[in-house]
Amino acid sequence: LIDISQSKKNFIQCELLFWFKSNKRDYPWRHTKDPYNISIAEIFLRQTFADKVTPIYTEFIKKYPSIFALSKANPLDLRSIIHPLGLLYRAEQIKELATVLIIKFEGVFPNERAPLESLPGIGPYTASAILCFAFGRDEAMIDTNVLRLYRRIFNSFEHSTKKGPDKMTITIAKQMIPMGLSKVYNLSLLDFSAKVCTHYSPRCTTCPLNLICLYAKGD
Ligand code: SF4
Repeated sequence: LIDISQSKKNFIQCELLFWFKSNKRDYPWRHTKDPYNISIAEIFLRQTFADKVTPIYTEFIKKYPSIFALSKANPLDLRSIIHPLGLLYRAEQIKELATVLIIKFEGVFPNERAPLESLPGIGPYTASAILCFAFGRDEAMIDTNVLRLYRRIFNSFEHSTKKGPDKMTITIAKQMIPMGLSKVYNLSLLDFSAKVCTHYSPRCTTCPLNLICLYAKGD
């Protein structure tokens, strides 16, 4: 498995954090530490563009500001709010999340991975987002864009035939997290991989990582 040198780690972290300062995207769920808001945002963001999620998330949180308000929601009302986002099964999923959370955890989000992942609609990625953004844990978050970014920088394609995160990239992502700065670093990764290291036309010539990126070097 790849062991990343400290200087390479520092270089990537510094460049990403510097880039993020003037290029970050702003979304309402980035201004909260409430695990309820974060879990709702992450469920809405699945296979859905963030700009589309923003007005629906805002309306939703206004109408259902807590897990207890959500537990009393009419399922048809939930479907109707979520309708513009598609994937309507999410309406039942969040209602079930509220029910289970109240029955099993007295309405309080657990701050450990295993109980979080036992909740309806909370998979490994959403659990990482809750642990990082709500509880300040140094957690690696790997969505499709971040996976592509790391695979390009470290040329870890050949090690995986899977679509989702492979062992090699998970190890890289964990090593790359700067202790105590995981929230801002994860956000910088999400934005950088969505805006610079894009799927079809990565901006390698102007990318601040092109000196160390194996994809840009053609390796
Ligand atoms: S140099 Fe190109 S491939 Fe490498 S991280 Fe930058 S944009 Fe992505």
